Amino acid sequence: MKAHDGMYIDGAWRPAAGQDVIEVVNPADEQVIATVPAGTAEDVDAAVRAARAALPGWAATPPAERAARLAALRDVLVAREEEIAETVTAELGSPLAFSRTVHVGVPIAVAGSYADLAATYVFEEKVGNSTVYHEPVGVVGAITPWNYPLHQIVAKAAPALAAGCTIVLKPAEDTPLTARLFAEAVHEAGVPAGVLNLVTGLGPVAGQALVEHPDVDLVSFTGSTAVGRRIGATAGAAVKRVALELGGKSANVILPSADLARAVNVGVANVMSNSGQTCSAWTRMLVHRDQYDEAVELAATAAAKYGDRIGPLVSAAQRARVRGYIEKGIAEGARLVAGGPESPRDKGYFVSPTVFADVTPDMTVAQEEIFGPVLSVLRYEDEEDALRIANGTVYGLAGAVWAGDEAEAVAFARRMDTGQVDINGGRFNPLAPFGGCKQSGVGRELGIYGLAEYLQTKSLQF
Ligand code: NAD
Repeated sequence: MKAHDGMYIDGAWRPAAGQDVIEVVNPADEQVIATVPAGTAEDVDAAVRAARAALPGWAATPPAERAARLAALRDVLVAREEEIAETVTAELGSPLAFSRTVHVGVPIAVAGSYADLAATYVFEEKVGNSTVYHEPVGVVGAITPWNYPLHQIVAKAAPALAAGCTIVLKPAEDTPLTARLFAEAVHEAGVPAGVLNLVTGLGPVAGQALVEHPDVDLVSFTGSTAVGRRIGATAGAAVKRVALELGGKSANVILPSADLARAVNVGVANVMSNSGQTCSAWTRMLVHRDQYDEAVELAATAAAKYGDRIGPLVSAAQRARVRGYIEKGIAEGARLVAGGPESPRDKGYFVSPTVFADVTPDMTVAQEEIFGPVLSVLRYEDEEDALRIANGTVYGLAGAVWAGDEAEAVAFARRMDTGQVDINGGRFNPLAPFGGCKQSGVGRELGIYGLAEYLQTKSLQF
């Protein structure tokens, strides 16, 4: 057990204002592995002041130099990859190989992409008789969840740094150790004091203080729709810019012409990955009624194979929540074909890979985000029915379409109310915009689209 003290403020690790701590638990064995300070409004204020003081210097730093710091940050993440992967595994519970390739691999790619974008982005342009400047928005309050602890931070911090903003980061209480390593990496990369500050703490205390702070210009939040709604309301009252990356209930639409086995197997893998704790997971599989029974059998077999390979959920609270949803699915008449609410192990917050068949669009398991390894397989009559079901939730974050012919899949995907769709198992692209329609959020992350969130325009007329 390691007791960490201090928070990274103005380029140094400083003692917290209060005495309270947060315990960090390894979800695989339920042992307390560390404590970190539980920051208060006083700590947030110190961090915001540091960010405000550092803003003029960082905003005026030539983009090429900001790009160089981002490239250095990527290099530090590469050099410390193993240590970060082990830390993610210790506090999130994901298998080490997944921590290496995804939890650390993706943020390395994203940091690299912003090193390139900072160097090439046109921050100043001529439009008729005007010069338009793309200037940093100012001080950013970044609030992140635990499910991809490093990626969620880098997806905010890297574009903010590229834009010339300064940042106060409040990471999730379940995964603060990865955030501490990130702050160390920023320091090692030679980013000046005050440009990035870290305050660990509870959401309703430190998070709320950050959202309410009058000297924060933009709040970028990733997390639940419930909290996002509150943050949006608070920011709106102060006319503060806000970016919200929220929940999802994405549809995996398998059209009759698709390679059914491949679509089902990749679909199951997508849901079970990270133990189902992925906002963009394709948690609703939509299958034509003629192929339905075969698809359910394939899905049940595929899910059973994941039995020993997925990690635990992040916390006892998440496990209770996911079990509650599984019990609700059974109570509402869905047919359990794999997994179930019982724990597969004595220790750790594990839930078995679970598949429900005979799910109808109105059931709770087809409408609400479960955030666990639970797949619902739904039946559709024809393409219009599939579209109605796919678009029939309050969310619209991601999705997938499978068809024998790519053009057929694209035509369907264009009609989906969602921010991102994978066609026949398309690969992750760190330059493509990621973000939601409807209650999945406001704004986009990644690539040039993510950079734009942290910029505002000023025009001079001649
Ligand atoms: P959460 O909303 O409870 O917490 C997210 C962050 O907000 C944490 O840092 C938390 O401390 C903070 N927070 C909580 N209450 C706050 C308040 N009143 N004021 C300010 N900050 C507050 O979400 P979670 O349980 O940590 O994460 C799971 C949720 O996040 C899921 O719904 C998931 O879909 C969503 N998510 C979305 C995306 C996306 O990109 N769209 C990515 C990952 C997770």
